[in-house]
Amino acid sequence: MKTIQEPARQIPLYGEYEVVVLGGGPAGIIAAVAASRAGRRTLLIERYGFLGGMGTAAGVTNFCGLHANVHGEMRRVVQGIASDLLARIERLGGLNAPHLVLGKILAQAYDTAAYKIAADDLLGAAGVDILFHALGAGVAMRDDRHIEALFVETKAGRQAVRAEIFIDCSGDGDLAAWAGAPFEVGDDQGHMLYPSMMFRLNGIDPEKAGDAWRTIPALMEKAEAAGTHKFPRKAAIVRPQRRPIEWRVNFTQLKREDGSAINGLEPDDLTRGEIDGRRQALAAFEFLRSVPGFEQSYIIDLPPQLGIRETRRIIGGYRVSGEDVLGCASFEDSIGVNGWPMETHVAGDVIFTFPPIPESRGYNELPYRMLVPQGVDNLLMAGRCASMTHEGQSAARVSGACFVMGEAAGTAAALALSGNTIPRDIAVEKLQDTLRQQGAFIGRDQKVPEGL
Ligand SMILES: Cc1cc2nc3c(=O)[nH]c(=O)nc-3n(C[C@H](O)[C@H](O)[C@H](O)COP(=O)(O)OP(=O)(O)OC[C@H]3O[C@@H](n4cnc5c(N)ncnc54)[C@H](O)[C@@H]3O)c2cc1C
Repeated sequence: MKTIQEPARQIPLYGEYEVVVLGGGPAGIIAAVAASRAGRRTLLIERYGFLGGMGTAAGVTNFCGLHANVHGEMRRVVQGIASDLLARIERLGGLNAPHLVLGKILAQAYDTAAYKIAADDLLGAAGVDILFHALGAGVAMRDDRHIEALFVETKAGRQAVRAEIFIDCSGDGDLAAWAGAPFEVGDDQGHMLYPSMMFRLNGIDPEKAGDAWRTIPALMEKAEAAGTHKFPRKAAIVRPQRRPIEWRVNFTQLKREDGSAINGLEPDDLTRGEIDGRRQALAAFEFLRSVPGFEQSYIIDLPPQLGIRETRRIIGGYRVSGEDVLGCASFEDSIGVNGWPMETHVAGDVIFTFPPIPESRGYNELPYRMLVPQGVDNLLMAGRCASMTHEGQSAARVSGACFVMGEAAGTAAALALSGNTIPRDIAVEKLQDTLRQQGAFIGRDQKVPEGL
């Protein structure tokens, strides 16, 4: 590759914080609130002008992983600060009642506008400083193991932000990778979960459409057998939002020419994925217009970006695995739980694999060690880039587990600062006590919360 030399320059210092969180998705929102509520001067940096991460920027519009199927009974196992966020979305009229998925687990749809506003309010109430429209672009290291500052590109040019502890909630592990933390990408052959371009339809006749989410997969099979259509994947998810004239469509699958998944770390792949994603959305829409109740529908939203499920996974003190998910693993350093099954987006299909239900308790614990990277001392990571195997990440990447990880990371950063130590060395029992006091359910011998 040809290169050019960038001249050395002095970078203005935007600010000095105790905690800086990169990325305002589900993990980053809750991490920033947790650190700030604990009294730490906290800045959240986000490249877009709104919060929510894939949940808003990629049009996901549906929370998975808030619940677990505990011996056949549904329970909301993600509590703590996430409950405050959900209550705010609910107050704005933007939260659906939970709905059943595959007869085994609950998910809960929401309106993206309500999510964005509720997240702004939550951070505002907690006193978090926010810097929108700032793309994290690199780090300056104090030494091999300590990040001195994060560089961000803004409309006012490049700026630097200093912090005592950084939390990488970029989803892609950008900050951790720049700081030199080890990471993995994909399965043992480098295959990543396939991305999708989500979209939403409006103008649906709810009476006529009925529970079309049950019949659409069979209609797709019929259309393929008749040779009239060829779909990018099976297992299309087409379901109503809070106002049932509006439905979300999770139907597409984006690949390279060689059939492998679009790589969310490669600009040319992302460009192709965005354009192909919109093409696939249009083709899916044209098919859906043949479904009873959808005749007058139209595309009301194509989100700002392609939905990326998996890129870098930073290696920490423990990697949560597929066996941990299916075996409902317990950990002494548990900081919360994941009740979502493995959900692997493979070529042409989506495969869900559940722990045994109702025999098992239906959730695995998430260890604090998955948030603590190897090699860098003033850094934590939370969300889909935390320390998991490819299979483990296919489950614990969903919003519920990201909320859990965010709350633990923000709280751990505050505890490290007050104990004058590094995140790796904090007393985990203290973290667990604090999380419980904040209303979180961390598993262990804590009673599983009642209700939904
Ligand atoms: C198509 C699709 C469908 C999905 N369906 C569901 C579902 O139904 N339910 C569910 O719960 N989960 C679903 N998921 C998974 C879930 O949305 C994500 O795994 C989750 O949002 C990850 O949260 P996060 O906070 O780790 O990262 P993200 O949500 O990816 O958020 C990261 C944030 O960091 C910002 N950022 C990244 N890099 C930088 C940088 N360098 N500088 C500044 N900002 C940066 C991004 O703009 C973003 O706001 C889906 C994902 C996809 C892609």
